[in-house]
Amino acid sequence: MSDKTTPIQTRIPAETHGISLNDLSENARFVLERLHEGGFEAYAVGGCVRDLLRGRHPKDFDVVTDARPEQVKRLFKRARIIGRRFKIVHVVFRDELIEVTTFRGGDAAEVKRADGGMITRDNVFGTIDEDVWRRDFACNALYLDFASGELVDYVEGLTDIHSGRLRVIGEPESRYREDPVRMLRAARFAAKLGFHLTDDSERAIAHCRDTIADIAPARLFDETVKLLQGGAGRQTVLELKRLGLLAYLFDDLATWIEPNDPASDWELIQAVLEATDDRVAKDLPVNPAFLFAGLFWRMLGRRRMHWLHQRVPADDALVLAADDVLAVAARRLMIPRRLAEIIRAIWSLQPELERDSPSANQTASSLSDEQKALTTAPWFRAAVDFLCLRSRTREVDQSICEAWRRHAPERGGAEDASVDALKPSDFGKKRRRRRRRSGGNRQKAGV
Ligand code: ATP
Ligand code: MG
Repeated sequence: MSDKTTPIQTRIPAETHGISLNDLSENARFVLERLHEGGFEAYAVGGCVRDLLRGRHPKDFDVVTDARPEQVKRLFKRARIIGRRFKIVHVVFRDELIEVTTFRGGDAAEVKRADGGMITRDNVFGTIDEDVWRRDFACNALYLDFASGELVDYVEGLTDIHSGRLRVIGEPESRYREDPVRMLRAARFAAKLGFHLTDDSERAIAHCRDTIADIAPARLFDETVKLLQGGAGRQTVLELKRLGLLAYLFDDLATWIEPNDPASDWELIQAVLEATDDRVAKDLPVNPAFLFAGLFWRMLGRRRMHWLHQRVPADDALVLAADDVLAVAARRLMIPRRLAEIIRAIWSLQPELERDSPSANQTASSLSDEQKALTTAPWFRAAVDFLCLRSRTREVDQSICEAWRRHAPERGGAEDASVDALKPSDFGKKRRRRRRRSGGNRQKAGV
């Protein structure tokens, strides 16, 4: 990063940049204020500043400070230090989690790297002047200073936000190699913000994309969920396709995602992604199992046909096909076992729901034993939602969807609570937190 040696800080006064500390969540303000009163520097940073400048409501609020993690922890009642490689602090509120990071420092040369350039050890704290060069895109590298309300910009991030430009900070190729997840983030932000990747930020992806295979499958899964459930899932998949990144997530499935080919799986996949985007826009919970069930559904059908041709009984063919498909998915992503079970349940209920559909005027008490058993099966509601999605692509008759809808409990009931009631942003965080307790490390690595 050659430009790193001459950090020129621009401070933009509140009257000029137009956002205010009052735009932050109450909890974020509380955290910033405590740090400030404790004699530390305190800034809101990253996506929240970017989104506020665009007049959007931020998904979450990230805080950065010169206080060390232990010092941060001491300031808050409910705070815990997480991460092994680079410690950060989670300050926990009833319905919000504020991530507090200490400025990252360290020269690129000081950071220990694996052969390919990927950061493997990274525990150096620094100053704001150093921190900025560790961030991914210029539009994500603006700091809102709690002390003055000023915006701190080193990299013309504000210009990028106003002109819709997505630009890697520093030399794109080495930044992607440091942390290949940044290529996926590029696709996500381009799609979600409607920003254009600069030529060199885009060109470097073609040279570096093979390094995505080096991302740990568990982290890749978390990132994939963020890509698909970030609110612009459909557009993100198209962007990933355009950038040649899709096969690194979905392996063989990527060849079946062809927006201009009606014989591909796109129609159904698009419907699943649109339904998800729709729910995110309405701030409704989304279920990643539902999403993955949809992505791989047509592939499941092809594998099922294969086994039926081998004269395997129908029920077994479905189980074997599910094994095959989940094995394809597992080549790239570590889908948690709990989620895989739900995906299987959604799949295996489909033929049964089609076969035992109630008639239009059938009441709950007149359902057959088989039908009643289906209504109490785990993940029945998600399976009905999926059936109805299939009816949108004319795979299933609309009347079957409507018949089961009448017998499906309200979404968000006890059966759905474990996964369905999670907000999109919760999913990554909850999983990450659990992993960390058991010694894993899935934080925003490489920053
Ligand atoms: P979102 O709206 O999805 O939350 P975000 O930009 O806030 O977008 P986060 O994942 O919350 O993204 O990360 C917060 C900030 O941390 C980013 O804006 C960026 O400055 C920095 N960051 C996160 N991940 C990376 C990474 N892999 N490499 C470099 N910087 C990163
Ligand atoms: Mg964020």
